[in-house]
Amino acid sequence: MSELVIKRFDSTQADFSEQMDQLLAWEAVSDDKVNQIVNEILKRVRAEGDSAVVEYTNRFDGTSVDHLAELEMSAERLQAALDGLPADQRKALEIAAQRVQAYHERQKGESWQYTEADGTMLGQKVTPVDRVGLYVPGGKAAYPSSVLMNAMPAKVAGVKEIIMVVPTPGGVVNELVLAAACLAGVDRVFCVGGAQAVAALAYGTETIPQVDKIVGPGNIFVATAKRAVFGAVGIDMIAGPSEILVVCDGKTNPDWVAMDLFSQAEHDEDAQPILVTPDADFINAVEQSIHKLLPTMERKEIIEISLRLRAALIKVKDLDEAMEVANRIAPEHLELSVEDPESLLPKVRHAGAIFMGRYTAEALGDYCAGPNHVLPTSGTARFSSPLGVYDFQKRSSLIMFSEEGASVMGKVASVLARGESLTAHARSAEYRIKE
Ligand code: NAD
Repeated sequence: MSELVIKRFDSTQADFSEQMDQLLAWEAVSDDKVNQIVNEILKRVRAEGDSAVVEYTNRFDGTSVDHLAELEMSAERLQAALDGLPADQRKALEIAAQRVQAYHERQKGESWQYTEADGTMLGQKVTPVDRVGLYVPGGKAAYPSSVLMNAMPAKVAGVKEIIMVVPTPGGVVNELVLAAACLAGVDRVFCVGGAQAVAALAYGTETIPQVDKIVGPGNIFVATAKRAVFGAVGIDMIAGPSEILVVCDGKTNPDWVAMDLFSQAEHDEDAQPILVTPDADFINAVEQSIHKLLPTMERKEIIEISLRLRAALIKVKDLDEAMEVANRIAPEHLELSVEDPESLLPKVRHAGAIFMGRYTAEALGDYCAGPNHVLPTSGTARFSSPLGVYDFQKRSSLIMFSEEGASVMGKVASVLARGESLTAHARSAEYRIKE
């Protein structure tokens, strides 16, 4: 491979804005080819069910099964995985699960109502989604943490049935993933992934039940498939290839910053690590750390491609301008690696998760801090939030008029309905007006 060159931008450059547009374009990771592949997979799974899922799984994940049922993990198998874990792994999983649950308990939305003077009652009834599909990624790495992050808020919300899908390349299952599914109370686990798993959950097949909502992160094929099935089912958000934006005042150990950038780059060649700093010397120092540390990384090939294609080292005027750049990027993970992160916090408008201070490595948030690690990517933090209990709850409006309230509001409705020439609306309201 040729020498690693990482893009460097300077906010004073005349074409800085265009450079940023190019860096952040969704098209940088999702081209027409991905759309075509995904649409074909969705179409075939919808029409052919199990047989198409089996064919694609054998093709993309290198399995060799004849029936989809062979890819379902039984409850006994999940329990055996949990029972068989080494003590330190079981303990770590339990601590993470407890912390994730405790955090999400606080998000639970409750029903509410109030009564007006004439006895009219208005309110909102909160109910859980009946059946959800959890996508747990598994192509290039195994993600037991994503099992917990998906399943714990669903459990807190009171979802009745949780179906999990996870690819198992080469047919190799990850024991920690199965153990986490058992610990979190997942009902059924299918070892399928990619767009075919999303399609199976969205449309249902002979073996995989159709769900009401699909949540969870994944690569570009998964994210594209989720976008495409929205409407047939609900989705949480676009949680695609990982991103990290480190805003640094230049006083953090450059090795720490380099490793934080690697920590997201190692997920995927499409992952996006970015550093923004007012300190030009610090950019040089971090780049030196990158070159020093990269050869020591187990996943150096993936990291290198991510750095080459999607990374940027951005020099800005000051920390205020750094925050403007951060808001423009609306990153999945925003690290405020500065002396006084709380002074920058009011300036953050768009970010999936905000990691405050030099000691708060993003990696802790991935596993055990408590907040969810399923987060909006590709700028969608402008309008999306982390996966949460609210994603597994729906709200129904409650309206109960008293006789008197129906009479008073009937007159208002009648005027507006006649203004819209909707006579049935008007007369329906007028019937209830007291003479
Ligand atoms: P994955 O499960 O998302 O994808 C693997 C599947 O992709 C395979 O099973 C296969 O079906 C499909 N696939 C791969 N190449 C294909 C091709 N050429 N054509 C059709 N389908 C193909 O696992 P992964 O690849 O390891 O990716 C995990 C992703 O999840 C990474 O991008 C990571 O950054 C991201 N992630 C995001 C978040 C978040 O909250 N945003 C959290 C964790 C992980």
